[in-house]
Amino acid sequence: MRYAIISDIHSNLPALKVVLERIEDLQCDRVICLGDIVGYGPFPNECCDLIQERADMVIVGNHDHAVIGQTDISYFNTYARRAIEWTRTMLSEMNKNYLFGLPAKVDIEKACCVHSTPEEPLEWHYIMSSRDAAISFNYFEQQVCFIGHSHVPLIAKKNTDQKINVSLLIGTVEWSEDERCIINVGSVGQPRDGNPDACLGVYEPAQNRFTLERIEYEITETQKKMREYSLPGFLISRLSWGK
Ligand code: ZN
Repeated sequence: MRYAIISDIHSNLPALKVVLERIEDLQCDRVICLGDIVGYGPFPNECCDLIQERADMVIVGNHDHAVIGQTDISYFNTYARRAIEWTRTMLSEMNKNYLFGLPAKVDIEKACCVHSTPEEPLEWHYIMSSRDAAISFNYFEQQVCFIGHSHVPLIAKKNTDQKINVSLLIGTVEWSEDERCIINVGSVGQPRDGNPDACLGVYEPAQNRFTLERIEYEITETQKKMREYSLPGFLISRLSWGK
């Protein structure tokens, strides 16, 4: 079984399209989306439609929750808030209902999936350090937990002596049967690790293996549409930097 795991699409249709094409080429058996389908970008309805059509399991992210009024946006920065308000005016009732029905957590083979953290999946904490990861390892039973949310691909590995190592995730990572990991699959539509290419994760549970691919897409197409809708300039330029 091969799972394609994607997260944080953020209404970036050109990025989502190339990622889905690659998933097709790789002949993945299942497609899992870890949330934040909308927010920031200019194609909220198109992305909701495509995810509904192509993903087998989808969980809710904080921007999805914010758009449907389930999360307070006063803690969002100005740019994110403006994009959420704009998305509210654009998103169809059908897609709002779709976001409303999404679960906070799903289980797949040997792994659980959440947007933020397994301990409080709807509180939107971040796992960025071994200290953060140490808490989260206590709140799932499976060998692996897949997350998104920070837009930075990362692996926290807990080995047999209970030591936790956190590192940026590039390429393929493997673990042994008695190790556990938390894996951040990065972002399709707004990567923040300095690499602007879209992230696609491929999980092979039988091999205890995860591979992160980076895929180039037409960033200018997304940026052009954002300009047409007068979305914040900072959100437009950060796509080129991958920050
Ligand atoms: Zn996000």
